[in-house]
Amino acid sequence: MSTLEESINTTLEDLHRKDLARSLLETVPHAESPGNMTCNQQSLLSFSSNDYLGLSQHPRIMDAAKEAINHYGIGAGASRYITGNYPLYPQLEQQISALKQTDGCLVFGSGYLTHIGIIPVLVGRSDLILADKLVHASIIDAIKLSGATCMRFRHNDAEHCDELLTAQRSSYKHCLIITEHVFSMDGDIAPTHILFDLASQHDALLLTDDAHGFGVLPDWSKHPAHIYMGTLSKAIGAYGGYVCASQSLIEFFTQKARSLIYTTALPANVIASAIAALTFLQESPERMTKPLAHARYFTKLLDLPPAVSAIVPYVIGSSDKTLEASQQLADNGFFVSAIRPPTVPKDTARLRFTFSADHTEADIETLVGVITRFRI
Ligand SMILES: *Cc1c(COP(=O)(O)O)cnc(C)c1O
Repeated sequence: MSTLEESINTTLEDLHRKDLARSLLETVPHAESPGNMTCNQQSLLSFSSNDYLGLSQHPRIMDAAKEAINHYGIGAGASRYITGNYPLYPQLEQQISALKQTDGCLVFGSGYLTHIGIIPVLVGRSDLILADKLVHASIIDAIKLSGATCMRFRHNDAEHCDELLTAQRSSYKHCLIITEHVFSMDGDIAPTHILFDLASQHDALLLTDDAHGFGVLPDWSKHPAHIYMGTLSKAIGAYGGYVCASQSLIEFFTQKARSLIYTTALPANVIASAIAALTFLQESPERMTKPLAHARYFTKLLDLPPAVSAIVPYVIGSSDKTLEASQQLADNGFFVSAIRPPTVPKDTARLRFTFSADHTEADIETLVGVITRFRI
C-alpha cells in the first residue's frame, strides 16, 4: 500500500473512533405530505431541511419545471457564454434584483460557486478580508483561493471588527468585510447596519451571505450591504446562487468570475423553478412569516431564548451525545440531524432544528413532548 493510502486509512479510522464520520443516508421525500420522508426504512417528519417554505415539493412550481423541460430540454449544453444563457436567466436576475432593490444581479450554479467566483476577483494578495468567526465553509474556501490576508472577528462582534479595521486597514490596499445575515448553524442575525457603517468609514465593502434569510425573513432587502449573496437552494426550493450589487460590480463579476465562465449553465428547469417560486412568494408573502412563527413557538414551549430566524440550535456539546439524541428523535418519528465539528466549533456539537411553513403547531408540540420526555 502507498503511504498516501495508509494515511487515508488512518484518517478514516480516526473519524470513526471520534464519532465524527459522516454518513450519506438515503432519504426519500413523501410527495403527498411535505416535510415527511423515509430514511433508514423509517418514516420521519423532518426538522432539518433548509426547504423552509416547502417549495421544493410545490405542485405549481413543479409544473413550471416540467414546462421548462418540454421547452428547453434537460441540460444547458455549455456555459452561459456558449449555449446556456436562455432568456430565463435575465428574467430571474431581474426578478431577484427587484426584490433586493439593487441595480443588478448575477446567477451562478450554486451558492458555493457564487462565493468561489466573486471573492477571489474582489480581493487578492495585497488586500485584507475581515470575516466573522463563524462564516460558512464556502466563504472560507473562497477566501483561501483569493490569496488575501484574512483576519477573523469574534462572532457578531462589530466592535472587534472595528478594532481590527483601525489597527490593520492602512497596511492593505483594499478591504472586504464578510458576514452571514442569518448564521446557518446558530440562527442568529449579524449587526449588518453597524458593519455597513464601519465599511463606509474605513473604505471597505461589506459582503453578506443571506442563504438563510432570503425568502424566510419577510423583508427581502432591509439589511444593508454593498454586495448581497444568496442561494436559490434553500427557501426558494430549487438550486443555484446569486449575487446582487451595483451595475459595475455585476459587470465585473460577469467578466471575471471563473466559476461563472468555466462551468456549465444551470438546467432550464432549475431556473424556471426559481422564477415560479419567487413569483409565488410575491403573490403569497404570508407564507414567509410561518417558519419564524413556528421557530418562536418551539422556543416558547421549551423556554429557550426567542428564535430570531427559522433556525434554532440546541447545543449538546459532545458528538456522541448529540448522535444519541438525534437517534432518539428518529426513534420517535423526527429527523433532526446531529451537527458536529468541523461544521461547528469543537465541543459545541448540536441538534439544529429548522422550521418550515408546512409544519403545524401540533407537529411542534409532539416534537417538544419527545424532547421533554427523553430530557434531550
Ligand atoms: C448552504 C449555504 C451556502 C451554499 O449554498 P448552496 O446553494 O447550497 O451551494 C452558502 N452559505 C451558507 C451560509 C449556506 O448555508
